[in-house]
Amino acid sequence: LMQLSIPLNFIGFVYREIRQGLTDIEQMFDLLEVQAEVVDCPGARELAIDKGAIVFKDVHFAYDPARPILKGISFEVPAGKTVAVVGPSGAGKSTLSRLLYRFYDVQQGSITIDGQDVRSLTQKSLRAAIGMVPQDTVLFNDTIAYNIRYGRTSASQAEVEAAADIAQIGTFIETLPEGYDAMVGERGLKLSGGEKQRVAIARTVLKSPPILILDEATSALDTRTEQEIQAALDIVSRNRTTLVIAHRLSTVIQADEIIVLKDGVIAERGTHGELIDRDGLYASMWSRQREATQAAEQLKKVQDED
Ligand code: ATP
Repeated sequence: LMQLSIPLNFIGFVYREIRQGLTDIEQMFDLLEVQAEVVDCPGARELAIDKGAIVFKDVHFAYDPARPILKGISFEVPAGKTVAVVGPSGAGKSTLSRLLYRFYDVQQGSITIDGQDVRSLTQKSLRAAIGMVPQDTVLFNDTIAYNIRYGRTSASQAEVEAAADIAQIGTFIETLPEGYDAMVGERGLKLSGGEKQRVAIARTVLKSPPILILDEATSALDTRTEQEIQAALDIVSRNRTTLVIAHRLSTVIQADEIIVLKDGVIAERGTHGELIDRDGLYASMWSRQREATQAAEQLKKVQDED
């Protein structure tokens, strides 16, 4: 038993170290799995960004060869535009963003940025050009200012506060007794999902990348939080090439194009208005979600009256 308990202790130690050291999803992927999956090719080049146009061309991908997830996906995110991907849970929406960020490589087809195949680039230059607002941001056990400044460590306090204001979290921080010096993370103040997402947005504002990936939180947010996050995202994505992985349809209305994924293929595509007129999958997802929202609001009203 002694022999067994030492490695177990060691695993526990490593696990705790990893958890403490993790700053965000980017590093989490680097540490836990992706280093083995994807490496720079010999002679990999730095990404030379022109305008930041993204092209997915006939992309095929499976985590497990027996279960293809993407079966020939083609679409473009023109420079400075916003494309939203929607579809049933498990359709492969987040997988598209992981392939763009190169956590994994496509198995057929290609993804290019300004004509450069992401597989030919250094991961460092690729990730420097892309800001990722993940579903769930892991925070440092440090001050909230430190957590925001992580987007650009050279940022001044004034820049940190400006970024927090753009991300609609500045007012909240000012209500904390210790303000920007408040400790957050596992051993500090626990922030809600919506607050954490706004910290991630503030980081991205400081990083100011030409390309953005927004992976919306799946968890339900109250209407006001959702509106605040939406306002923050609208500002951040302006004039940036943006891929939105949308779980709540309310965020996609403004998108330049909506891609509806189902069973590994693009089932429908178009603007919100076009897809509503088409009266297909998107229109039915839309009306179901609206009914669910109305039911939740009705329930809340009844509860508030009690
Ligand atoms: P949701 O809306 O629920 O977040 P999604 O459309 O974003 O779903 P993905 O996260 O892209 O879906 O996952 C697509 C499919 O791939 C799912 O069935 C999921 O179980 C599977 N999958 C995701 N990540 C992995 C992984 N690392 N290894 C194996 N299978 C995975």
